[in-house]
This record gives sequence, structure tokens and C-alpha cells, in this order.
Amino acid sequence: MLDTAFNVLKMIEDNSYEAYIVGGFVRDYIMGIKSNDVDITTNAKPKDLIKIFPNANIDNEVYGSVIVYLNNIRFEITTYRDEGNYLDNRHPDTVNYVDDLKIDLKRRDFTINTICMDKEGNIVDLLNSRSDIDNKIIKTVIEPLESFKIDSLRILRAIRFATTLDFELALDVKEAIMQSKYLLKDLSINRKKSELDKIFSSPNIEKGIKLIKELDLIDVLYLDNINKVKPCSQVIGIWTMLEVDDIYPFTRNELKLMKDIRESIKNNPLAFTTLYYYDLYPCTVAGEILSIPKKEIMDNYKSMPIHKRSDIVIDSYDLIDYLKIEDGPIISKLWKELEIKLLNLEVNNNKEELLNLAKKIYTSSNLVKEDADETKTTG
Ligand code: ATP
Ligand code: MG
Repeated sequence: MLDTAFNVLKMIEDNSYEAYIVGGFVRDYIMGIKSNDVDITTNAKPKDLIKIFPNANIDNEVYGSVIVYLNNIRFEITTYRDEGNYLDNRHPDTVNYVDDLKIDLKRRDFTINTICMDKEGNIVDLLNSRSDIDNKIIKTVIEPLESFKIDSLRILRAIRFATTLDFELALDVKEAIMQSKYLLKDLSINRKKSELDKIFSSPNIEKGIKLIKELDLIDVLYLDNINKVKPCSQVIGIWTMLEVDDIYPFTRNELKLMKDIRESIKNNPLAFTTLYYYDLYPCTVAGEILSIPKKEIMDNYKSMPIHKRSDIVIDSYDLIDYLKIEDGPIISKLWKELEIKLLNLEVNNNKEELLNLAKKIYTSSNLVKEDADETKTTG
């Protein structure tokens, strides 16, 4: 990965521009952590970069950035710029390109994110920030109140880095966050969600939650239930406990998953019927929230007599044939009863037993009557 990154730097420098790896990758490298993406800073403009990397994409999200993939690694290449490109707290209007690396570093969020690496692997630390990484401390590059006013996303990034890296926030950063939290009102809900996702999926989530409370951000982030959150390795489990389904943006699948996890909690995720109707994953998340060892859930799942309708040895035609009935709503009612009896181990998954039971249910219950009524009204 590093070799590929050096090659990207060389390709830019071969065209007589400067280029450095910057930010997260270098910070993580110093700390011995593996990074997934590489940010590069350069004085080459996007139109120059497109000539050097003909397959590059211009990134609309990060205005003026160019995305290059080499050996399946994602490089985000951004041209040196100075502050002033964030109007209305976030959206870059025009970009002010500059020709000096140091000016570019000064518009960045935290000192720990300003360290660079050149194409030979030398650390380039123009703002003398190395000690902040060594001391695990998060400081803003400029005065913190000013920094958060320019971009309120930095408030959440500060908490995110403190959580994922297990760093401390400098005192003036903490104070500035408490004074600037109202700025988060104008930050898009998507950006809030993506930072919170990173905080909530960190194994160090406890620290993030502690900071959100300590810095008095519960209201502005709508996290009223944060005190009810129990440890959970799955971020969807955390969101389930927070109950902010209609505040934060979730996909249809996530919304369904959260509902299923809540139902699994209510119905005991160890029960065969719960495992059957809500499926294994929601039950394991529910189990984690209820402090049930995963192994117990897995063992129960393995012991289930059936996992899905098609595991049942008879089908609808068998029922229709045997009971001499018509297809219709009656059949689904019978299925439901048979499934429950199977899952409660009141009958074996055996053709004869199931058909006998179906007959008993059909004749003894009011299903016959219902069936007749329904045929009358529908026919
Ligand atoms: P990671 O990639 O691990 O999330 P990162 O520090 O690389 O962390 P990115 O979001 O990839 O973060 O941004 C790359 C660099 O761009 C940062 O290191 C920082 O220097 C700068 N940067 C990112 N977001 C901001 C911001 N909101 N304000 C100022 N500088 C920023
Ligand atoms: Mg990065």
C-alpha cells in the first residue's frame, strides 16, 4: 500500500508538482494502525491531475478533490487551498487554491491531521504536531471557537477521533465544543449520522458516549435515550436502543432490522418461534443487548426443528389433498398453526403426524366454519 502511495506521489512530482500523503494515513502509520484510504495533498490543480491520471474521477462531495484508484487502493487527491471555502458552515462555494503546503495544513481540522509523508517515507511535520500524536491529544489547528464556527462537523470529528483513537480532547477544545454546540443544528443530518456511525461502531464507544454527555450534546443530537444504551458490537443495535428511527436517515432494511431486533427483545431471542419469525441476526443482536451469550442463541438456532417454511416435509398440495379443501386463506392459517406446533416441539416434522394434526386442527377449531363463511362471502 505504501509503495503504491509513493508511486502516486512520484507520478505527480514527475510532472513538476509537489505531493504529500497527509492526514489520517500518516497519523495512523505513526501509531502503527492500518489505514484503508490515503489522502494526498498537492499543488497540482484538478485539471492537471486529470492529465496525469486519465481514469481519475472528480469528487463532488469534496469539492475540487480527485479520486484515483491504483492497485485497488483509493487515493483522494486534494489541491492545496486555504480557508474561506466554507460558507454557511459547510458547503464550499469557491475554492481558493494556494501554492504553499503550510497554508493548506493550517485550514485543516486538528493538529494530528496535519502531518505529511513524502515519497521517500520521510515524515514532514511543518506545524510541529508530532508530539500531539505521541501525547494522544486532540487540538485544533487554529483557535477552537473559530475552527468550529468555520465548520461545525469538526465538533463531531473531534469526538469521533477521541473515541476511535482513544485520544483526549484538549481543554480549550472541550470548552469550545460546549460553547459552539448550537452550530450543530445547521449541520446536515446525514453528516451527523455518518460521524455517529463511526463513534457507535468503535469498540471504544463508551468513551464517545461519555463525551457526548459530558459536552452536553444529547439534545442537539436528539440522543435522549443515550443513558439506556447497553454495550453492543453491532452499530444497528446501538441505533435500535436510541430509538431515533424517524430522526436519522436509515435505509428500509435498517428500519426493518431495528423493528425485528425490538420484537426479538420482547419475545425472547432464545425462543424457537422468535428465531424462526425474526431470523438469526436480529436475535443475536437482541441477545447481545440482553447479555445473553451468543453461543446460547447459536445453539438454540441449531436445535430448531425447522428454520423456514420449506423445511416442513409437507406442502400446500398435501394439505389440500388430504383435507379435501380448496386453496385459500384457510391454508395460511393452518400453516401458521403447524409451524408453531413444530417449533414448540408438539409435533415431529413427519408427513403422517403433520397431516393428522392438520386434520385435527381443521375439524376441531372454527377453521371449518371460518372456511365456509369465507367461501360464502367470497364465492
Ligand atoms: P479517517 O480517514 O481515518 O477517517 P482522516 O483524518 O484521514 O481520518 P478524512 O475525512 O479522510 O479524515 O480527511 C482527510 C484530511 O482532510 C484530514 O486528516 C484533515 O486533515 C482534513 N479534513 C477532513 N475533514 C476536515 C474538516 N471538516 N475540516 C478541516 N479539515 C478536514
Ligand atoms: Mg482519510
